[in-house]
Amino acid sequence: MEIKGITSRDIWQAKKRISSYITRTPLVYSPALSEMTGANIYLKLENLQAIGAFKVRGAANKILSLSPEERAKGVSTFSTGNHGMAVAHIANRLGVKAIVCMSNHVPENKVKAISRWNPVIKQDWESQDDAGKYCYELEKKEGIKVIPPFDDKEIICGQGTMSLEIVEDLPEIDTAIVPLSGGGLISGVTLGLKLTVPDVKVIGVCMERGAAMIESLKAGHPVEIPEEPTLADSLLGGIGLDNKYTFDIVKDYVDEKIQVSEEEISKGMAYVMENHKVIAEGASCVGIAYALRKGVIKPGSNVAIVVTGNGVGMDIVKRIVDENY
Ligand SMILES: *Cc1c(COP(=O)(O)O)cnc(C)c1O
Repeated sequence: MEIKGITSRDIWQAKKRISSYITRTPLVYSPALSEMTGANIYLKLENLQAIGAFKVRGAANKILSLSPEERAKGVSTFSTGNHGMAVAHIANRLGVKAIVCMSNHVPENKVKAISRWNPVIKQDWESQDDAGKYCYELEKKEGIKVIPPFDDKEIICGQGTMSLEIVEDLPEIDTAIVPLSGGGLISGVTLGLKLTVPDVKVIGVCMERGAAMIESLKAGHPVEIPEEPTLADSLLGGIGLDNKYTFDIVKDYVDEKIQVSEEEISKGMAYVMENHKVIAEGASCVGIAYALRKGVIKPGSNVAIVVTGNGVGMDIVKRIVDENY
């Protein structure tokens, strides 16, 4: 069986390809969430990847899938967040040149975080859109491949590898709760799960404000919406007006799409800090935020919640602690 040209074999092949470049993260039992809900709740801790987020999976699968000639030319990205770090990190490990293009307005701390993985940084534009246009020009002129953040078969299969680990650790799973932005993560996890255990329910969660996928689903086609400040900043960004994979996969195979408030995200972040001693960024706590809502988790069910990353500054951590205690 295949969904949009992706089979479970593709995801298993991704697993084989990337296994020595990523961390096989633990699926930990959450006594506190389990007691509260009467279910068995587990957290998939992707914040433990070397760059602090799951995006190494997709980046590794994509870059390792390029031909030797393509790899020799190098790769590029215009993401300054977790995807940018993932591309820089994996390229660095493979000895592939990575070019990261960014606007002049990207804050110093983000530039520094990406610099750790030694990419070539080009900072010469007034907007991130213009930096992106330059990347695509480089691809056209010099064959330097842009590594897309989510709407790509290899990226989706790479992110999907975490679902194979989840099934291995929790074969009795009946519900997965997954953060949702461009949808590369949830597409991979949904396909990986449903092509293996078809009756699993998948719930996608994003923030209330600036959720491009939700607005696109309402419109029936991809739309652009303004970004708004949110604790879940890694979930911001459009889904691409010519979206090829993730819009359809999310529309047809993700069972529920949920939005949580800023206050709920703050509570979710505080909850993993207090109960698991884990510092996770807002985007990665939307699943926990949802599970904390009264009555949404079926008692007795076996639930995996994906905690996606740890990219949060200590100023925000301090604010969250102050807000909740
Ligand atoms: C990228 C990212 C997401 C969302 O992944 P998509 O594939 O864009 O849906 C969630 N959490 C974190 C921490 C991320 O970096």
